Amino acid sequence: MATNRTFTMIKPDAVEAGNIGGILNMITEAGFKIVSLKLTQLTKADAEQFYAVHNARPFFGELVEFMTRGPIVAAILEKDNAVEAFRTLIGATNPADAAEGTIRKKYAKSIGENAVHGSDSDENAAIEGAFHFAGREQF
Ligand code: ATP
Ligand code: MG
Repeated sequence: MATNRTFTMIKPDAVEAGNIGGILNMITEAGFKIVSLKLTQLTKADAEQFYAVHNARPFFGELVEFMTRGPIVAAILEKDNAVEAFRTLIGATNPADAAEGTIRKKYAKSIGENAVHGSDSDENAAIEGAFHFAGREQF
């Protein structure tokens, strides 16, 4: 049974570039409700845990360095079929492959610095959201 929630981060590259407002606007224009929202920063341990599935990949060190170098925006989003709908809105991991109208097409710089994260399953959406937000921060 699909949950109606997903979790996203606006990554350090997009925060640095002043794109928080533009990205949140694309998210709300696409019909997602913002359930939780904050500016925060991942520790090295947070990023290593968050991307643990990639820890044997050659880019893992670079990924952890990137994700911890500055603040991120963390958010929980709600919409029908939220996980899949949000992955469609953000576009392909590599912005060179991202479709027109997607967040990564507009804001991502490279396959590494790609502006946004979107949960890849209902289970991970729940885990990632709960990591950043207490129950009373979820509306
Ligand atoms: P995310 O999990 O951040 O939403 P994704 O699900 O589209 O991204 P994953 O395969 O989970 O892509 O990769 C996680 C992140 O690792 C990517 O978003 C990107 O920042 C980085 N990454 C993936 N592949 C590469 C690569 N070949 N070179 C450098 N960085 C990469
Ligand atoms: Mg992923």
